[in-house]
Amino acid sequence: MLYKSTRGSGHLHASEAILKGLADDGGLFMPAYIPVLSVPLTDLPNLSYQETAYLVMKDYLDDYTEEELKSCIAKAYDEKFDTPEIAELTQAGDRYFLELYHGATIAFKDMALSLLPHLLTTAIRKNGVDKEIVILTATSGDTGKAALAGFSDVEGTRIIVFYPRGGVSRIQELQMVTTKGKNTSVIAVNGNFDDCQTGVKKIFHDEAFKQELDNAGFCFSSANSINIGRLVPQIAYYVFAYGRMMKLGAIKAGEKLDFTVPTGNFGNILAAYFAKQMGLPIGRLICASNDNKVLFDFFKTGTYDRNRPFILTTSPSMDILISSNLERLIYLSCKRNDKVNQDLMTQLARTGKYTVTDEMKEELKDFYGAYADQDQVQDTILYFYEKYGYVIDPHTAVAAFADMQYRKRGAEGTKSVIISTASPYKFGETVLKAIDPDLSYRDDFEMAERLQSLSKRNIPNAINDIRNAEILHKEVCDVPKMHESVKKILFGS
Ligand SMILES: *Cc1c(COP(=O)(O)O)cnc(C)c1O
Repeated sequence: MLYKSTRGSGHLHASEAILKGLADDGGLFMPAYIPVLSVPLTDLPNLSYQETAYLVMKDYLDDYTEEELKSCIAKAYDEKFDTPEIAELTQAGDRYFLELYHGATIAFKDMALSLLPHLLTTAIRKNGVDKEIVILTATSGDTGKAALAGFSDVEGTRIIVFYPRGGVSRIQELQMVTTKGKNTSVIAVNGNFDDCQTGVKKIFHDEAFKQELDNAGFCFSSANSINIGRLVPQIAYYVFAYGRMMKLGAIKAGEKLDFTVPTGNFGNILAAYFAKQMGLPIGRLICASNDNKVLFDFFKTGTYDRNRPFILTTSPSMDILISSNLERLIYLSCKRNDKVNQDLMTQLARTGKYTVTDEMKEELKDFYGAYADQDQVQDTILYFYEKYGYVIDPHTAVAAFADMQYRKRGAEGTKSVIISTASPYKFGETVLKAIDPDLSYRDDFEMAERLQSLSKRNIPNAINDIRNAEILHKEVCDVPKMHESVKKILFGS
């Protein structure tokens, strides 16, 4: 399998594309073709998560040996997850939720970020690069901790995370600054998230610094969501969910199944589209947005337009105006014409918008856009709690609401699975405000206790662990000093 950029350059093997992250021409790597599932659907209910992951990924990552890939999978999906199922399918009334939040940081990014470090270190070895990988990340909260958890104590890697001081929630900050791995560093920046991100980008583009690192035996990488090594692992849970729906007797082999996905950067739902192209009988993909409904408008009109106010919502991981992974879908919709794609992306960079042709729009008909505003999110959380005793987080609630909107249109009786991307414990304040708005709480831990009694589900380790954990990362730096901080960590001076 060879990988080519959505803007024309290529061809690389999987491990090379994973090491590179973004293509030199600014495009995203795409497999030359989408492989077809190599077992009959009737086998799926009997496969474990790890077996399913191998089956799905082996043809994408075919320059990894069977032994290498299986070893990466075994190291990723282990006791870090609080259920042996890894991804848990739960029924609430006549709805199904695929819970992707049973990993180390109780959110869906764990699904890919548990595996990526192992894919990267294996790729380094395979390509004869004798370097230590340095992951540099700016975070507004979620990705930072998931990356820290994924890379913590993975041999041959270092990870440095910058976050805006005072710009993340108390729980998110505690999660990060109590990280134990010897190869981890967490630094609070006196600035906002944009400052952190710009600072990291500057370091990435500093050629002299890169050379200095290279001489010292380091190479930079990013755990960015556009890395093909994050997309491919996400295809696995759609195939797994299909098998579990069969096992429950909810569908028969070959029956169409819809998925509703709370969407931000478009990585998660794109993985579902890949699963469909692989032959999984998926009907519609319902793309759920919050108030930042750029994607809803795009699927309706064919025009992508980011020129609008940015709205801070209760589902912050979906507060995005440029969905980077959408470029891969655009590329597929114009039949892999990199010139057409390049032209649209240039328009996006220059004017903040572009419009696809009618033929391209026709190619997108597997997607249905829907959205929920913040009141609808609160109502949906309350609805599922009152009706089924099932507690969902605000991101999942966006999807649940979108799913109900879609069903109301009379969706031919096709069953659907709602993708649940975060544990309610991660967004306790919003969840509790929806369920009993009159109560107030001393702190996040008191909220967790309350959630436990409401949801009848134990407080996850991710919350318990930080309750009494020692604060290990105390460094604070000013924006112009980020560079120096990285040097100090790597060279000790
Ligand atoms: C990242 C994230 C999303 C959005 O996923 P994309 O792949 O960026 O579309 C949704 N919900 C949660 C909780 C997330 O962390």
